[in-house]
Amino acid sequence: VKGLKKYFDIKGGVLGRKVGEVKAVDDVSFTVHEGEILGIVGESGCGKSTTGKSILRLIEPTEGEVFFDGQDITKLGDEEMRKLRRDLQIIFQDPYASLNPRHTIEKIVSEPLLIHGIGDEKSRKQKVKELLEVVGLNAFHAARYPHQFSGGQRQRIGIARALAVNPRLIICDEPVSALDVSVQSQILNLMEDLKKEFHLTYIFIAHDLSVVKHISDRVGVMYLGRMVELTGKDELYDSPKHPYTKALLSAVPVPDPDEKSERVILEGDVPSPSNPPSGCAFHTRCPECMDVCKTERPSFRAVADNHFVACHLYDESLSEVAITTEK
Ligand code: SF4
Ligand code: MG
Repeated sequence: VKGLKKYFDIKGGVLGRKVGEVKAVDDVSFTVHEGEILGIVGESGCGKSTTGKSILRLIEPTEGEVFFDGQDITKLGDEEMRKLRRDLQIIFQDPYASLNPRHTIEKIVSEPLLIHGIGDEKSRKQKVKELLEVVGLNAFHAARYPHQFSGGQRQRIGIARALAVNPRLIICDEPVSALDVSVQSQILNLMEDLKKEFHLTYIFIAHDLSVVKHISDRVGVMYLGRMVELTGKDELYDSPKHPYTKALLSAVPVPDPDEKSERVILEGDVPSPSNPPSGCAFHTRCPECMDVCKTERPSFRAVADNHFVACHLYDESLSEVAITTEK
């Protein structure tokens, strides 16, 4: 994903003219490796879902490139994109809202097969039964309706539907956020198992750092439409670099009372993305804000191997890394 931007127009007045824009995703770049789980975290409204949907072109990006197998999919025509959708699936936060209440589970799960013209009716029926078993439900559930299932079961149905066309990349948009904590871990374990079994790659979006910690190989942190830090899971949790990441991590409850947790309290609310602060978007809340932060937007750069940060605190170390990597 390279330089991804998604701006939404704000319309106002009686004529409904454009009066401004929301920079929901503002110049985001990252790579997802085949077979990995990349977590993306941030508070609501930081642009993580919009990033996910823009990658799949469920909403059209304003700018930027998205390469899949070396091909820029933002340039594909409708027909080519339709074919590629087999490889790229999404699981939504609210399984209930994404399942048609008037359709049987069989119809819901087999819909992607029908759309892509895969198999005849008999083989599709068979495939639905297999998929339901794969996600821990039963073949006889196929004749039932969404309201007959619990939240966790409905998310299993959503997962079965995403798996139907043998995708390679699944964008998981807060798939467990609406579920009880006890059910969350069951669904996360299922998703990890399925990832191995079907050689999947996930972009796993969450607002909860503890969810992402469990499942991710690497984690990216977003703030106000920008990626502010991206690195390996252990690196991020053990030695976060960006002040926003540090604040997020300090807000996660520490189970061991002997373990010191220096809570960083962030002042104020997240500013509106329609009027983001100048320079570093985090500067209005950053405990370490410097003069340069108010005017210059920090670039997203490597501060160590496999560790990217957008923060002026590391401007010095950037050159050190550049020198040491030349050896
Ligand atoms: Fe804080 Fe400045 Fe770094 Fe932004 S660039 S996170 S304001 S220190
Ligand atoms: Mg969201």
